[in-house]
Amino acid sequence: MKYEAVIGLEIHIQLTTRTKMFCSCPVVGYDVPPNTAVCPVCLGMPGALPVPNKKAVHYALMLANALKCKINKRSIFARKNYFYPDLPKGYQITQDEIPIAEDGKLLLRLPDGTQKIVRIRRIHLEEDAAKSYHIGTGEITLVDFNRCGVPLIEIVSEPDMRTPLEAATYVMKLRQLVTYLGICAGDMEKGNLRVDANVSVRKIGQTELGTRTELKNLNSFRFLQKALQYEIERHIKLLESGEKVEKQTLLWDEHQSKTVLMRTKEESSDYRYFPEPDILELVVTDDQISNAEKDVGELPDERIERFMRSYNLSRELAESLCATKSFSDYADRVLEAVKDKKAAANWLLVEVMRIINEKNISADELKVSPEELAKLLNMLSDGEITRPIAKKVFKRMAESGDRVEEIISSMQVKVINDDSQIEKIVDEVLQENADAVRKYKAGKKGVFGFFMGQIMKKTRGQVDPKVVNKILLEKLEG
Ligand code: ADP
Ligand code: MG
Ligand code: ZN
Repeated sequence: MKYEAVIGLEIHIQLTTRTKMFCSCPVVGYDVPPNTAVCPVCLGMPGALPVPNKKAVHYALMLANALKCKINKRSIFARKNYFYPDLPKGYQITQDEIPIAEDGKLLLRLPDGTQKIVRIRRIHLEEDAAKSYHIGTGEITLVDFNRCGVPLIEIVSEPDMRTPLEAATYVMKLRQLVTYLGICAGDMEKGNLRVDANVSVRKIGQTELGTRTELKNLNSFRFLQKALQYEIERHIKLLESGEKVEKQTLLWDEHQSKTVLMRTKEESSDYRYFPEPDILELVVTDDQISNAEKDVGELPDERIERFMRSYNLSRELAESLCATKSFSDYADRVLEAVKDKKAAANWLLVEVMRIINEKNISADELKVSPEELAKLLNMLSDGEITRPIAKKVFKRMAESGDRVEEIISSMQVKVINDDSQIEKIVDEVLQENADAVRKYKAGKKGVFGFFMGQIMKKTRGQVDPKVVNKILLEKLEG
């Protein structure tokens, strides 16, 4: 490969504040009737005055802390001017020259185990635009201003990524971070985390950057990677044939599997940025900064390390358990209370995850409390119940929310621990199936499984298969 790709991302996250960025209108979802969560400020009426949302500032300071940014104690809001129906004021209030924070970093761990630091250029506060709905073939556009003025943070990376996979890993990591912080819902499909990707290519060894194109609105990890891959190949082809890459803004067209032109890339001067005269400098105090730091809590990477250390789990298991905040909160309480941590980790990732996926809920909505699950898992590891029974009991717990003891006593499913009782049942089964015993003795070892099945049936699974296996072998071979 003679070329390398260079990728920088701009990510907008919608903040989960109660109210909008510069007015007291509520932040609402798309289930609320259009144009009902609006007021003179967010509709851009003349004379209405914006007031910055304290909570949004707090969230930005939390993110700045988590990304190890340098915080600007005085930052400035600016007007970014452009004309579009989704922007009633004719400008967006954002931050330009002095953002709330800059110079941060995010550590990526790639699937092959290598690590990489992506530098964060800046994070800044701004307001969202309204949402346009293009009806029919596009003659009619309807605008819903409920989203207009919703607080956003834009996170701008340095052009530090070299492959579509690195870009996707960066987005995943950032999404995990902002959802752990609880400042954004992080749902790309719903548009509350939006990714714009800038990409260029250059000859390996070359230090200056090539001409980039910008890919807008990549609303899934798959599209992000496909669009980048397509664009990288397109750039290389152009350069190879002696042509130039044009600075453009493109969209990914999933149906055609290619990028299509949206507009030629605007220059920053097109926006005629100037300081917002209606808002004073944004001043943050040391108290605000330390309060934000307190609210950051345990970061995903720190939690992964702690799970590895305290529960003696592999990185792979710890990472899977910590994928989301709610699941790892749940897992943490289970793991703390169980004896066999590794078995519990696997149970969480298979059985608990299955229920979560089936019911499409999050871990905090599970009817089984972590403490009850821990009890069940301890009974399993103590050999009081078998695995098939534990699964059945867990299923019932997840349906009814009943406690382990209640279910176990109602199912009468404690394990038959008495070896002489198991022996009796094994003898019965062998007597009832004399033919199969003869076959086994003649060398057809395959019928062993048949005997196991019969015994399990007779005991309704209430025996430890390992014990049965041992006794059965002794009887048949002895
Ligand atoms: P704009 O003014 O268009 O927003 P910026 O200079 O702010 O441009 O950069 C926006 C994003 O594009 C940043 O994430 C940056 O890392 C990335 N970027 C800038 N130049 C290039 C390039 N030549 N190739 C790839 N990414 C780039
Ligand atoms: Mg930009
Ligand atoms: Zn409003």
